[in-house]
Amino acid sequence: MATTYDWVHKEDLRRRFFSYYGREFLEVLGIDVSEDNPLLFEVLQLFPRVFDPVMHLLMIRFLNHSLEKFWKNNFLYQPFGKGPWLCLNPACENYLQPVVTKLVIPEKGHREVPYAYLEHPQGIFECNCGFKYSRSGTYRTELDMYQFDRIESYGQLWEEKYFTCGETQRQKFQDTAFKLSCSYSWLNPRNRLRKLEAFWQSLK
Ligand SMILES: [Zn+2]
Repeated sequence: MATTYDWVHKEDLRRRFFSYYGREFLEVLGIDVSEDNPLLFEVLQLFPRVFDPVMHLLMIRFLNHSLEKFWKNNFLYQPFGKGPWLCLNPACENYLQPVVTKLVIPEKGHREVPYAYLEHPQGIFECNCGFKYSRSGTYRTELDMYQFDRIESYGQLWEEKYFTCGETQRQKFQDTAFKLSCSYSWLNPRNRLRKLEAFWQSLK
């Protein structure tokens, strides 16, 4: 009924949902069961304007068969999977290895859309080498593991290299580091990493 890429097969879901509860029962609860009701499963989008606690409870029971089981399972919100995630720091001895265990998912406190962070989650990943990158959106393809939106911190290995540079080199270092941290998002993630690798190699 749903894919790992967030797509919901609404027709299939509607058919099974109606079959599970029966249309009459749903109508008694005030739910519009007409085939052309586009809002029936908007509950899955978590928009406050269509928030319906009854539908939430019905969906939980439909998907888990038991509310008790749902609460006991203590589901975790893991839009980026369980990890560990890749370190994307070419200076790190664990470059491209799944060693990153620190992940912070900030809640974006937007009044109109309080669940926006669920729909478009942002993750900040930090390796023990100090390299920290952020990305938004869930993993949809294998290539997404190599994707970042921004480098939040280059970490101590880069900092050490920075302090060995002369005054004029430092400005260039900063400019390049800034550019690589948030530009080139249109590039294939691997090609973008190659630019970062080339930058690190140029400092040696
Ligand atoms: Zn690292």
